Amino acid sequence: MDIRLEQVGKRYDGLAALQSTSLHIASGQLVALLGPSGSGKTTLLRLIAGLLPVDEGRILFGGKDATRLSLRERRVGFVFQHYALFPHMSVFENIAFGLRSRPRALRPSNAEIERKVVELLELVQLAAYRDRHPAQLSGGQRQRVALARAMAIDPTVLLLDEPFGALDAKVRIELRRWLRELHDRTGFTTLFVTHDQEEALDLADRVVVMDRGRIEQDGNAEQVYGEPASAFVFDFLGRSNRLRGDVRDGVFSLPDISVTFPAADCPDGQADLFVRPHDLGLAAGNNGLRAEVDEVRRLAGRISLELAVPGQERRLLMDVSERELPLLPRRGEPIAVDLRRHRVFPVTA
Ligand code: ADP
Ligand code: MG
Repeated sequence: MDIRLEQVGKRYDGLAALQSTSLHIASGQLVALLGPSGSGKTTLLRLIAGLLPVDEGRILFGGKDATRLSLRERRVGFVFQHYALFPHMSVFENIAFGLRSRPRALRPSNAEIERKVVELLELVQLAAYRDRHPAQLSGGQRQRVALARAMAIDPTVLLLDEPFGALDAKVRIELRRWLRELHDRTGFTTLFVTHDQEEALDLADRVVVMDRGRIEQDGNAEQVYGEPASAFVFDFLGRSNRLRGDVRDGVFSLPDISVTFPAADCPDGQADLFVRPHDLGLAAGNNGLRAEVDEVRRLAGRISLELAVPGQERRLLMDVSERELPLLPRRGEPIAVDLRRHRVFPVTA
């Protein structure tokens, strides 16, 4: 179902956990909500679920105002990081729970429940585990049960709050691939919360990046990674370098260094230049940014350098192939680097 937030906000003790936020999730979309801890992701999810009342704004489900509806009335499927499956119930009964606890008039017959749960067990590849109890399952299997349980009620939207957060890295990667395929088959409108950028970029068509209770950027994976809309997004997604300097008339300059960089879209004043480690290369001739090699590491055909730039607090990280740098530089050697791609953003408090 199509979900729309119109200027929805939430405060705790006068502090905004979610600033006035608008968001549209089209029916059938899989959207990742990505941000650091405390950025308001869970708050946003709980507001959509109806687990938390909004302070301002409206929430629409399928074009209808659902702001005052309860969790049950919204028919939302929810999976948390530590999802409490009922420990005394079998896998089958856990999945059937949402259907069995419907009011009598809306409750499906036992035969229908059986059919539905068996279908879901197949879907999450746990048919052989129907009579086991949660304690007899791995963490990944438990989260698949939790997902089947959320899907059993034919949810209007699936809200997944760091569902794989407690699992080890390998299982997480498998499960997110699996979830992606499952979504392609079932087409549930899904909002997936994570603080893991790789997970978000790998899983979703659309990534909504949050920071401090606000949406910083909303776009596809290529856009948020390749065309970050703010310094925060650039720094948060992928590895990055920051150089602090000043912009004047669309030109960025560093203190103590004569080289300048274009910064057409940045207003005059203090500014940060961001560049990814793999967008640094060796400069030809006497051009480029002059730095001193501080650290050299070599791994699997790649060379990682840490460079000291005069006047800069942060070291500059540079990743190049051995082909590009056949002579391994030594510590203390001068080096001149080119920036193939960079972005400049004004410094804000
Ligand atoms: P995230 O899920 O991105 O880690 P949350 O939505 O849980 O972030 O929290 C956003 C902000 O709201 C945080 O600053 C958090 O401390 C605050 N917050 C969340 N829940 C409560 C609560 N029940 N009472 C007071 N503050 C809260
Ligand atoms: Mg959270």
